[in-house]
Amino acid sequence: MAAASFSEIPALASAPRLTDSYGRTIHDLRVSITDRCNYKCVYCRTGELGAQYPELEISEYLRLIALFVSLGIAKVRLTGGEPLLRHGLLDLVRALARLRTIAGRPLDLALTTNGHLLDSLARPLKDAGLNRITVSMDAVDAPTFERITRVPGSSQAVLSGIRAARAAGLTPLKVNCVLLRGFNDDQIESFARFARDEDVVVRFIEFMPLEEGRLWSPEIVVPLREIVDRIQRVLPLVELPAREASETARRYGFADGRGEIGIIAPVTQAFCGACSRLRLTSDGKIRTCLFSQVEHDLYGRMRAGSSDDELRAYILRVIERKEARHHIGESGFLKPSRSMVHIGG
Ligand code: SAM
Repeated sequence: MAAASFSEIPALASAPRLTDSYGRTIHDLRVSITDRCNYKCVYCRTGELGAQYPELEISEYLRLIALFVSLGIAKVRLTGGEPLLRHGLLDLVRALARLRTIAGRPLDLALTTNGHLLDSLARPLKDAGLNRITVSMDAVDAPTFERITRVPGSSQAVLSGIRAARAAGLTPLKVNCVLLRGFNDDQIESFARFARDEDVVVRFIEFMPLEEGRLWSPEIVVPLREIVDRIQRVLPLVELPAREASETARRYGFADGRGEIGIIAPVTQAFCGACSRLRLTSDGKIRTCLFSQVEHDLYGRMRAGSSDDELRAYILRVIERKEARHHIGESGFLKPSRSMVHIGG
């Protein structure tokens, strides 16, 4: 793969800051490299639909990502679908690790995975240049977990993946858990202990209306306040300061100093005002918000022969149109046409 050439796409002579019309600086790009997944989590997929959107060549993702980086993106997270299913992943990570931000630093390179294939891939990913990993795991209890993923053996596979990632030095290791009332909200206290026992940062995520089916309702969301109160009763917490304004998780340490949890509360405590993100879907469309009603066809322009400068100018125009905020829970809220697995979480 002719990957090296893209690491030479220069930053613009006077690089414009990636700033949207609300003055937010955009420095974080999430890239889906497939919308295929080997899990059928009940809150995400119906299990009836497979991949719905085409995938680009690895060299095409690389060219597009390099353009964003030359404009000011400093953090890239690979996601999906399930990114570990994607052929060529290690080549992509190796090539991305060679890119430099406009400040001349290496990219902050992260990946989100369900962890099923991580046991054997953690070390190769680290060696390829990946910095950090987030593993999704929605229950500590194996039968509960496998009722959610609908894949037998998934609990043990993910646990092995988490341990392999920690051993490979893909740290700080984060474990994300989407909480749904009546499915896994009995796991909150177990996850608090898991964070300490496994030396991982467990982050609880409020369920958003981004599923393929029709499961979401305000009642199924387990709000931040309830999560904190329940953990406090068994293990006292202290709130920790945010490390950066655009941080999505509220951070809490355990009062005895051992371990940390986070809560990502897009529903009850929306953080759109500090949003620093863009998304690129597996078929090369820019999404300026998880809940965007419009997508911007960057790949289509690339296929039609646009130059790097033309593509950069297009990206800058798209960023100006980034939405102020999402409207979850408001009357007139419209679910986006793509669900989470097809956008890239
Ligand atoms: N397959 C990878 C994984 O499992 O992490 C990456 C893609 S997955 C869509 C990314 C994350 O989005 C997972 O942590 C998943 O639990 C979360 N997610 C999926 N649907 C969600 C929803 N409706 N609300 C909140 N988080 C969701």
